[in-house]
Amino acid sequence: MKYQELREEVTRISRRMGDSGLVRTTAGNVSARTPDGDVLITPSGLPYEDLEAGDLALVDLDGNLLEGPLEPSTEVPMHTGIYRQRPGVGGIVHTHAPYSTALACLGLEIPAVHYMLAALSEEGRVPLAPYATYGTEELAGYASETLGGTHSACLLQNHGTITVAETATKAYSLTEILEEMAELYYRTRLAGDPIILGPDRIAETRAKIAGYGQAKRS
Ligand code: 13P
Ligand code: ZN
Repeated sequence: MKYQELREEVTRISRRMGDSGLVRTTAGNVSARTPDGDVLITPSGLPYEDLEAGDLALVDLDGNLLEGPLEPSTEVPMHTGIYRQRPGVGGIVHTHAPYSTALACLGLEIPAVHYMLAALSEEGRVPLAPYATYGTEELAGYASETLGGTHSACLLQNHGTITVAETATKAYSLTEILEEMAELYYRTRLAGDPIILGPDRIAETRAKIAGYGQAKRS
């Protein structure tokens, strides 16, 4: 089967997403851009614990199904729309992560409540896309518009989250950061009036965290 490694990456992340509590039941979806410019995406409505690499759907950038034993995710238009708009994006993760989604249901975007928000946005905010029914071209349009050319994350009103990165694995890590930021913002708003960092602080942090993280030498 083509793209075995990429299939395994998407499958691993999807299962982790299910186990982590970032989604419940079959909510959310994960995709990756293939070296040929098409998209591997999770099937619709399949429990993550049952997902195997061969279950992923291969679609082209217009959303046409090229290969796959199951119905592709209903959010194909949202994923393909973002890949068309952002050539540098190689992976996309969509969840209904609880704190992020709670803020999205309150109609709130997330300001720079903590320095790690710099990992998600040059502007120091996670924007909120307007509501539209799941799986529609309308929602796809709002998501692409709201992410624009530079945001790595956005909230979808009354729905959930989207993160984008060079790989699906990185997009998944950004979802974890996004959910942490959402929880902090939610809790600090309940407790009082959170201090919000200014654009200079975010720019400084962005430059610094670009080189953050290391792997053990094997
Ligand atoms: P799929 O199971 O079709 O991917 O849909 C889940 C979802 O989160 C819709 O927004
Ligand atoms: Zn959803």
